[in-house]
Amino acid sequence: MAESMIKIAEVERPDILRIEDLRVHYPVRQGYSFRRGFLKAVDGVTLNLKAGECLGLVGESGCGKSTLAQSILGLVPTSGGRIILDGREVVAAGRAGRLERARVAQMVFQDPFASLNPRHTVGQSLGGPLKLHGMADPAERHHRVEEMMRKVGLRPDAVRRYPHEFSGGQRQRICIARALIVEPKLVVCDEPVSALDVSIRAQIINLLLELKNELGVALLMISHDLGVVEHMCDRIAVMYLGRIVEQGHWNEIFTAPAHPYTQSLISAIPDPMNPAAGTIRLRGETPSALDQPPGCAFNPRCDRAMPACREGSIPDFSTLSATHAARCHLLQGL
Ligand code: SF4
Repeated sequence: MAESMIKIAEVERPDILRIEDLRVHYPVRQGYSFRRGFLKAVDGVTLNLKAGECLGLVGESGCGKSTLAQSILGLVPTSGGRIILDGREVVAAGRAGRLERARVAQMVFQDPFASLNPRHTVGQSLGGPLKLHGMADPAERHHRVEEMMRKVGLRPDAVRRYPHEFSGGQRQRICIARALIVEPKLVVCDEPVSALDVSIRAQIINLLLELKNELGVALLMISHDLGVVEHMCDRIAVMYLGRIVEQGHWNEIFTAPAHPYTQSLISAIPDPMNPAAGTIRLRGETPSALDQPPGCAFNPRCDRAMPACREGSIPDFSTLSATHAARCHLLQGL
C-alpha cells in the first residue's frame, strides 16, 4: 500500500529531496534456488526535505534508517518507489547513477577512519571529488581544498598529512569537508558522532549546524540519539521496521508524541528536572524484518494493542496538525 503523503506546512523553500513509496526489499533464499521471501528493510517510505532544512531520522538499530540513507545515494539498489533529488528523479543505476546523485547529495558516515583512504593525503581526499565532477582546474582545486579546511576548523597546511595523523574528531571534520567541497544541496549524516568521544561530539554537531546555516545545505540526520536530533533538527521522522510511523516538527515529537513507539523512545530520555518520570518499557524484541507481524508491525510490543491492530491492515497516517502525523489505529477519527 502506498504511504499517504504527509502535508508539511508550506514554507517557501523547494524540496531538495522527495522520496515517494520507496522500497528496499532483499530476496532471502534457502539453499541454491528456493526463495523464502523478502527482507523488507525499507517498505513504502515517503518523505520530503526542504532546502536548508534538517530532518532527523530516528529508530532502533535495524529499523532501516541506514538502508534508506544508502538508497538515496544509490549505494544500495531500490525495489520500487521514486527518489527525486533537486527536482529531478534519479533513475540511472550503477556508477553513472551514483555520480549523478553525488553532485547533489553527499554522505558523512559513522566511522571517519574507515571512510577515508589511508593511502591518500587529506589534499587528495578532498581534491578527488572536485576532479571527479570536473569542478575546478588543479590550481583552483588546491585553493578550494585549503578554503574548505579552514571552514571545518583545520589548518590548511595539514593537506599533506594522512588520515592516521589526525584524531577521531579531526578525521570527521575531514569527512565533512570532503562531503561539502562539491557544494551539495543535501548531506546525509549517518550517525556522524556515535563513533567519537563524548567530549568532541558537541563540537562536530555544532560544526554541522554552523555549516548548514552558512552554506544553506539541507541535512538528513540519522541517529539513535534523541538528544542529538532534538538539538539539531527542524523536523523528525520516527522509523520502525522499515516504515515511518510518526513525523512532525521537533517540538511536536518531543512534547506530544502520538505513536506508542515514539512515546516509549521519548520516555527513555533521562529528565533531570523530573527524575521520577517513568520509562515506558517495551515488551520483547523488535520482530525480524523478514517475518513481520500482520496488521500494525508494532502490535507484539504495544501495551495498547487491540484486535484491529493484530488482524486489520497497516494503519494509515492520521493528520494531527499541519506538520504532524502518525500511523496508529488509536488516532484514526480524531
Ligand atoms: Fe499500538 Fe495498535 Fe497503535 Fe499499533 S496501531 S501502535 S498496535 S495501538
